[in-house]
Amino acid sequence: MDKKISELKKIVATSDQIVAFTGAGFSAESGISTFRGTGGLWSKYDPNIYANINIFMQDSTYYWNFFRDERYPVIKKAKPNDGHYALVELEKRGKIYRVITQNIDGLHQEAGQSDVIELHGSTRKTNCLSCGKTYTIDETYKLLQKELPPKCSCGGNLKPGTVLFGEPLPQVALDMASLASKNCDLFLVLGSSLVVYPAASMPMIAKKSGAALVIVNIDPTPMDDIADLIFRESASKVLSKLI
Ligand SMILES: [Zn+2]
Repeated sequence: MDKKISELKKIVATSDQIVAFTGAGFSAESGISTFRGTGGLWSKYDPNIYANINIFMQDSTYYWNFFRDERYPVIKKAKPNDGHYALVELEKRGKIYRVITQNIDGLHQEAGQSDVIELHGSTRKTNCLSCGKTYTIDETYKLLQKELPPKCSCGGNLKPGTVLFGEPLPQVALDMASLASKNCDLFLVLGSSLVVYPAASMPMIAKKSGAALVIVNIDPTPMDDIADLIFRESASKVLSKLI
């Protein structure tokens, strides 16, 4: 264990363009339940009803009920964990090139991270489908208590800032993430099982471009074979030891 940490320290010492790629496992320690698997959020709420773009456009009340009862209280309660703060510390040391996240909770920014690419959008904002006006999560929650579905001041319908099922990922974020993967010298996977596209492709891009690949995840991933170093434990613990 300690031997692996010193190996990681060596890799980090010679890297100054690190991409940290975070997934659901990274936020799990902040009390945000994972989506997939037993006990995951999607075993309670079928995402093809509660978070599907086509259903949402027909009848958004499923989503907004889910937002009000499940998403909002969890996000409001969640606090960044040691892993989030460790990444902020690495950024202060000039080590971090980009943080790419599959998470939608905004906890990296709350911890103070300045450069975050959100592949699946953010649950902290919503925007009006008619005029484009954006609302914070608290403003949205207030509007939601007045009427369901919540309406913009212009009368238009609001849409969550997250990518819903059936929606493409935001192209700008995807392009930035691919570029970062290509230009980094260390690609650090933190709490992602790398099974959902495009998560699976980015470590490959990094590795092909000559970067080191370190994977920190409780479960095995499809990219383990090409990793330089693998930790089967919590990302926050490994990062805390690292810094
Ligand atoms: Zn509007």
